Amino acid sequence: MNGMDSTGREAFARGPTTRFAPSPTGELHLGNARTALFNFLLAHHAGGRFLLRIEDTDAERSDAQHTAALLEDLSWLGLAWDAGPGREDERGPYHQSQRGALYERFFQALESQGMVYPCFCTPLELEAARRAQRASGRPPRYAGTCRNLSPAERQRRRAQGLRPTTRFRVPPGRRLEFIDLVHGPQSFLSDDIGDFVIRRADGSAAFFFCNAVDDACMGVTQVLRGEDHLANTPRQLLVLGALGLPAPRYGHVSLIVGSDGAPLSKRHGATSVREFRERGYHAQALTNYLFRLGHSGAEHAVLDLPAMARTFDVAHLGRAPSHFDERQLAVWQKETAQRLSAAEACSWLGALLPPGLDPPAANAFIAAVLPNVVLPQDAQPWVQIVFGGPPTLSPEAEQAVKAAGSAYFAAAAQAAAQCGNDLPAIAAAVRAATGRKGAELYLPLRLALTGCPHGPELAPLVRAMPAGQALERLQRFA
Ligand code: GLU
Repeated sequence: MNGMDSTGREAFARGPTTRFAPSPTGELHLGNARTALFNFLLAHHAGGRFLLRIEDTDAERSDAQHTAALLEDLSWLGLAWDAGPGREDERGPYHQSQRGALYERFFQALESQGMVYPCFCTPLELEAARRAQRASGRPPRYAGTCRNLSPAERQRRRAQGLRPTTRFRVPPGRRLEFIDLVHGPQSFLSDDIGDFVIRRADGSAAFFFCNAVDDACMGVTQVLRGEDHLANTPRQLLVLGALGLPAPRYGHVSLIVGSDGAPLSKRHGATSVREFRERGYHAQALTNYLFRLGHSGAEHAVLDLPAMARTFDVAHLGRAPSHFDERQLAVWQKETAQRLSAAEACSWLGALLPPGLDPPAANAFIAAVLPNVVLPQDAQPWVQIVFGGPPTLSPEAEQAVKAAGSAYFAAAAQAAAQCGNDLPAIAAAVRAATGRKGAELYLPLRLALTGCPHGPELAPLVRAMPAGQALERLQRFA
């Protein structure tokens, strides 16, 4: 407990210390990914530190697999943590499930001040009380049933084998004020806040308590988190105040909602980083999109994380809910796809290609389709066209090809027999034989070779085809 102030000052001297503190109860949701990103950027904007803390004290809901997936998704997004799981330092451990001894010391400090008391109310009793409060038009809050039990009464219940939770005794008649980094001045009345649980019946620390204590012990100076935590902040300030610990500055970021205005959820489609990643979205597309979602003022250009950090400003975080729109994400995706190196594009789309394809053919195919692809699935039809059997032509295509005539295709096939899958040579031979140019020259070739009137640049597509493929396709019409 000692040295917390000096801890805070030390952290401040190095720039802000921020953190992302997920509960590993599911996949990394876009909203949480954005919270992580904003905290990362806030730290990096001013040369500070970004911590990762796993809030896994709720043994029933937390799961090691979710933790592993979270770490992987954050790493994939590029949000490296300066300290956290796998990068422990003197402030760790960074899994709350391993911090029980530290919490115990702080519980005792509160106990010795009489700031907490055991509560024997059962979940059923609590629910019934809440229902009664709602029915009489009062906001539900803990009624204080166990607040003033005598020591003998507490002893008697313990002897019956009842395992109490521990509640924080909220002082009456206090106004609790703080300035939110996003929402500005906030004011709450302590009388509206019921005594809240800081330790569960199984002895584990509850959110209000361990989240606040850890921020203080880890030297966190700024907390950006979801708006759903705004009303929790006065409780946490009470805990920190009672323990004499420094409080971070809190900023509550607006929620992400779907097109219908409801909080983003499964029924809006994909919502987790994992799902977008599995569909082939790039990390840079996601970070660029999330960076603009609720944060205004950035130029429209694909930025890397250091460039985002330079322009990130808490004052640019909006208070209104942010509307998720996958079409906007697709715009960033398309832009990031265009910027991939040949090797990156190959690793992005390579799994779609026929096994054993020689690298020049693979590179030619990828370079040709890349401008037409937002997601790997968009390349799939072109894989079929280029590497599958000869295309079936629609009646209109068939007509256009027939109209070009057999002399046209005889010249084309002859060139293909000599030069292979070399479109410029084929086109030159057809031009020489027929005098056609422009669309008149190229459209019948395109139709015969791909079955489609439009598509990626034709020469590299043809170059990617298996040997003899152009000849086979052109000969059909000669
Ligand atoms: N574990 C909490 C959550 O995932 C953290 C909230 C906070 O950032 O303080 O919602």
